[in-house]
Amino acid sequence: MKITRLVPIILHAPVTRGGIADSTHSISHWGAPGVAIHTDTDLVGYGFSGTHAHLPADRLIVDCAVDSYGPLLLGEDPREVRYLWEKLHKHPPIQWVGRSGITHLALGAIDIALWDLKAKAAGEPLWKLLGGSASKPVEAYNTDGGWLNWPLDTLVADCRRMVEVEGYRAVKIKVGAPDLATDLRRLAAVREAVGPGIRVMTDANGKLTLPEAIRLGRRLAEFDVVWFEEPTTFDDVLAHRRLAESIETPIALGEQLYLAHQFRDFIHAGAVHFVQPDVVRLAGVTEWWQVADLAHSYSLPVVPHVGDMCQVHQHLCFAHAGCRLLEYIPWLRDWMLHPAQIQDGFFVAPDSPGAGMEPTPKALAKINLA
Ligand code: MG
Repeated sequence: MKITRLVPIILHAPVTRGGIADSTHSISHWGAPGVAIHTDTDLVGYGFSGTHAHLPADRLIVDCAVDSYGPLLLGEDPREVRYLWEKLHKHPPIQWVGRSGITHLALGAIDIALWDLKAKAAGEPLWKLLGGSASKPVEAYNTDGGWLNWPLDTLVADCRRMVEVEGYRAVKIKVGAPDLATDLRRLAAVREAVGPGIRVMTDANGKLTLPEAIRLGRRLAEFDVVWFEEPTTFDDVLAHRRLAESIETPIALGEQLYLAHQFRDFIHAGAVHFVQPDVVRLAGVTEWWQVADLAHSYSLPVVPHVGDMCQVHQHLCFAHAGCRLLEYIPWLRDWMLHPAQIQDGFFVAPDSPGAGMEPTPKALAKINLA
């Protein structure tokens, strides 16, 4: 099998209720800039990054994928994905302009598309190609009811519905409101609504200073919070280590770390407990697996952040021993040919061949790159 061409794709999917916010971002759409990798067979591989649907930035990502990495892939066998990842990752002129950032997001989209092709060529879902099993339980936790712009009654109603009607046993809510009292009031209301047996996670999206994070972090144990996610600046190892030494609640992070080396530094420093690699922020499945192995060797749970809206991550979780819990956000479900399925709070292993990011024909028809 040989690669014949790369075609750019940019999807912008609306988020829930037309707009969501956390402590640092407000968005109306989720962006999925990526590529279709065509071959000299009928098989096409699809891979995407995950963005805030900022078209100029999304164009940079797909341009980098198609124009910079594309020529290096033509004529290659897509099934030799680890070799190709090394070839692209270390290509001097591209590495010179960034070992992370746009170049890395583009490489991630390509790597996912290559794994998609490898799995399709094998006639298997990616989890099976990676040695996983559909009988492994992969629990889902839902983030989509906990946004900071939801009024208190909406927040409570959403979390209650997810638990009582939809069967989730774990929900995440955003913190980092302008004042501590608001965060505590929202947390208390959610804890009371869902009851003591349900796991509640919190996420500050990197907004707080270290003193603010210590102040809020010391209160989280009152509500039996499972983790405190991105409490302060996302790549500040020292601040997170100091926080970890100061509070009882474990720390989760990783959604804004680009490189396996950054995870190594956080893990080695004792600055993270729940490791959250994202296959679209790291350079695809290949680098994600390095991070998951590393975390697992330190006895740290791997709980991916879903910039892919869990389409690829569900495959990785059915295959990787360190991963039993996965975030769920539904924004891409109408755009994907085989959207992730959840039953009674657990992912159902996909049975279609590939890595899970193939768009519907309708989604592909909407694309306008002019
Ligand atoms: Mg987060």
